[in-house]
Amino acid sequence: MLAVVVNKPGDVEVKEVPNPTAGPGQVLLKVNACGICGTDIHVIAGEFPPVKYPIIIGHEFGGEVVDVGEGVVGVEVGDRVGVDPTLNCGECYFCQRGMGNLCERWNAIGVADYPGGGFSEYIAVPARTLYPLPDDMSWAEAALIEPVSCVVRGFHRLSPQVGESYLIYGAGPMGLLNAQVARFNGASQVAIVDINRSRLDRAHDVFGFDLLGASFDEVRFHAPRGFDNVIEATGVTKIAEMAIDAVKRRGKLLLFGVCPPGEKACYDAYRIYNEEITILGSMAVLNSYGPAIDILAAGAVNAEAMVTHMYPLEKFDEAVQTVRAGSGLKVQVGGRE
Ligand SMILES: [Zn+2]
Ligand SMILES: [Zn+2]
Repeated sequence: MLAVVVNKPGDVEVKEVPNPTAGPGQVLLKVNACGICGTDIHVIAGEFPPVKYPIIIGHEFGGEVVDVGEGVVGVEVGDRVGVDPTLNCGECYFCQRGMGNLCERWNAIGVADYPGGGFSEYIAVPARTLYPLPDDMSWAEAALIEPVSCVVRGFHRLSPQVGESYLIYGAGPMGLLNAQVARFNGASQVAIVDINRSRLDRAHDVFGFDLLGASFDEVRFHAPRGFDNVIEATGVTKIAEMAIDAVKRRGKLLLFGVCPPGEKACYDAYRIYNEEITILGSMAVLNSYGPAIDILAAGAVNAEAMVTHMYPLEKFDEAVQTVRAGSGLKVQVGGRE
């Protein structure tokens, strides 16, 4: 079968590899769509420490069950499923305390140390990673579940109340997913800040957001006391630092974007104390894949508008160029219906 293999940093090949088979406890899937994520770009560049090269990448995917291994119950050939790529060990200190996303032996399909990834025709995965899909969910939407599940994890961390206001930094794919989930979650206001005018235009024209600006100052008029929830979705440390300025008294700042390790953001400690501000982190997926399916099925996200590009596996290189150009939103590979 054909698969995208990163042999070592900077060396990506779309090539023939042996077909996987479903071992005990595993299920063999035909992958129908897989999204490209910022993490994939980091893996290709050699900037994601958990990776063991060579690796078949891809962790945002869904597919159809084509074979079922020994001992698997409740899964049948022909089932349409999404895959939570998380592979927590289940045995370490954090796993035993319900914090599997912080596992001491953290691993995930397509980004760390697993024989197979979503950018391939077939993949064998542990049956416990599978989630059945609603009948009317498209494959493109199925490949959006994983990024939405990261957003849901962020909201579980924020635990916002109905009627609160939001400011999202970044109008890229993750910023727009956060903004849509905020709106779905009973927001009174959802403002989006981005320095890229065309991204703001799309947030307005395609997704219907109207509190938009190139900085907090440009939206401040609508929220003179600041916002209850400020979500940093750019992964730029300077923005993670500035974002605190937009937080209302007793408000929260969620660091959702992946800032480069080692960089420091500087906060006014007195203000955190005096205004009872909370700063939170949110790491990947934890018990949030199922809820992500449910809110997608309920229409929380305009999935059709989120997926701007679909490439066949053979054109993976072109797909990556499109991600790097940054003009689209979600770029997916596969595109079978
Ligand atoms: Zn991802
Ligand atoms: Zn663990």
